[in-house]
Amino acid sequence: MLFHHIEDDDAIWDLVAGRSDEEVLTALDGKPALMHLEGDLPGPHRMISVMLHGNEDSGLRGLLAWLRDKPRPTHPLWLFIGNVRAATEDGWFAHRYLPDQEDFNRVWGIHPVSTRMRRCAAEVLEIVTAHPLEAAIDVHNNTGDNPLYAIVPRPLEETYALAGAVSDVGLLWGTQEFTLMQALEPYCPAIAVECGMAGVPEHGDLAKGVIERFVAMRHVDPTMPRPPHLFEVRYRVEVRPEVAFDFVDDLDPDELDFAIVPGLDRNNFGMLLAGVPIGKILPGSDLPLVVTDVDGNDETERLFDVRADGTVVTSEDMVPAMMTRTHLQTRRDCLFYVVRRRPEAGGKPWA
Ligand SMILES: [Zn+2]
Repeated sequence: MLFHHIEDDDAIWDLVAGRSDEEVLTALDGKPALMHLEGDLPGPHRMISVMLHGNEDSGLRGLLAWLRDKPRPTHPLWLFIGNVRAATEDGWFAHRYLPDQEDFNRVWGIHPVSTRMRRCAAEVLEIVTAHPLEAAIDVHNNTGDNPLYAIVPRPLEETYALAGAVSDVGLLWGTQEFTLMQALEPYCPAIAVECGMAGVPEHGDLAKGVIERFVAMRHVDPTMPRPPHLFEVRYRVEVRPEVAFDFVDDLDPDELDFAIVPGLDRNNFGMLLAGVPIGKILPGSDLPLVVTDVDGNDETERLFDVRADGTVVTSEDMVPAMMTRTHLQTRRDCLFYVVRRRPEAGGKPWA
């Protein structure tokens, strides 16, 4: 078996009772787990997935804490615990995915089904979509300081309603290819929920709250309120690939090309005003950042500038989001995104 398939509520209680979160992972012995929890109604089902990325612990901790209370939900639930191997090798929660694995959030609905992980994803999808699905949430963590927010992959009223039921902040962001949420889109509204940074105990509590609100939702009704703070992605800000950088206050030009101001991620979903220092480069060097808009146009010169002393500054007011504080994530994805409030969203500015 590529994954545990636990269909019996008692087996779920046996798995979680009297075990720490880490002991539950040990009991899963390197394999993902698909669990089915009975509801008072026969259907439709809802789905909660956690830890598709092995280094993102908050969803797992929130889910296990919630299960230890032996809940009896109204709707039956599919629960999926993703990359257990990556979460248990080389220490706890050390890897997003292992060197011999694919990203577990990029294997859903992909062809050819040529790897164990893709087969696992295909079999799980087949099981959970065999009966009507009403809604799904996929719980993640960020690598920078962000408020709790829901990623809304499609601007549909029922998806906004689902996001609004679990979070005050929504981010409209086209679905990434071969994510679980994309694979579920034909079946039900599906969102990713980002519960702050991994490894912070309070963020496990945040995830538990999300799960409780998701389960308590009576229906997914398109007339339910959207998140009061609704944003959409405008730009992606990358560090040029040839530029050596770190998150440090001072630039040592013998060691680094770009010193990025530490702690800028505190401004995620807040505001960076025009003229705010982002970092330092050697005077006379070119801008170390590249900015691309959603259509792929280069907007670097519009958003950033360099002062004579080498300070890199913002040249217009901007709302950053998903800004990371890690080197790895900056290289793997980007330094941050620039978002803007959805014009029709109403409500008061977040910042
Ligand atoms: Zn993730």
